[in-house]
Amino acid sequence: QEKEKFLIFGNPVEHSKSPQMHNSAFEHLNINSYYDKYLLTDGKKIKDTFNHENAKGANITVPFKEDAFRQADEVVGIANEIEAVNTYIKKDNKVFAYNTDAPGFMKAIKDFGKIKSVLILGAGGTAKAIAMALKEENIEVRILNRSAEKLAFFKTQGFKTYTWGNFQMNHYDLIVNSTSAGLKDEDYPIKKTTLESIFLNAKFVFDCIYGKETPFLKLARLEGLKVKDGEDMLLYQGVLAFELFTDTTLDNQTIEIMRKSLKEESL
Ligand code: NDP
Repeated sequence: QEKEKFLIFGNPVEHSKSPQMHNSAFEHLNINSYYDKYLLTDGKKIKDTFNHENAKGANITVPFKEDAFRQADEVVGIANEIEAVNTYIKKDNKVFAYNTDAPGFMKAIKDFGKIKSVLILGAGGTAKAIAMALKEENIEVRILNRSAEKLAFFKTQGFKTYTWGNFQMNHYDLIVNSTSAGLKDEDYPIKKTTLESIFLNAKFVFDCIYGKETPFLKLARLEGLKVKDGEDMLLYQGVLAFELFTDTTLDNQTIEIMRKSLKEESL
């Protein structure tokens, strides 16, 4: 029997850890399938490429999640609200699309316990998934972004939004960094002094970035808050995609093997 093919579409895609994560689970479970990177240049051709490659499933990453949403034959669940998808599956010759970033995030913040209010820093694709997932659980969410442009989606969805210019301090149980700021020292998603005031009135802090402690997360830790980086979010979006790909429920041992594969260098 021919091996089933799974792909990740992105640009860039070289750094993606998804192939090693999914392949480690295929191998462990003796499933005759493989998962590969696919550098895509034309965002209008995601579905065509997926079909042409005869793949059984795929993940979609930056910057194609919105394009992938628009091209899908059927969008399932919360992805309809987010208007972006990260997972494709071929069933009965149709392309079904899902967003597993949203439930992946919810699973990742479970350790924090009960949360009633959240401030999300950033307003990109990841912020959309997180905001809609929290809203679905009736958690109060506000968005703070550097510029106004990307806030339109959130306003339409009924969220209270701020730019740096009109931000008002408040109490939040959880602060989430969904900006890409944090890869360099002193690279904070908002002014450090504003961040310090926000942390004074918060309990938990989550950063979507993984693999390093960002200045944002370090500051929160030093202020005595409970913190978590993006590893679990990445892991669980992958676990949920894998479960959709294979129509199975993963056991803890396989999930831990997937986690371990994330610690290896990208191949
Ligand atoms: P987008 O490009 O869609 O959005 C980026 C956001 O960050 C924008 O709101 C932008 O603000 C803001 N931003 C960028 N640079 C700065 C800066 N220097 N200071 C303040 N704000 C800044 O990105 P994504 O939403 O797709 O991804 C965001 C981050 O989340 C990435 O670091 C990515 O690696 C991570 N991620 C992690 C996942 C996980 O599983 N752990 C899953 C998906 C993403 P503006 O509108 O003003 O430009």
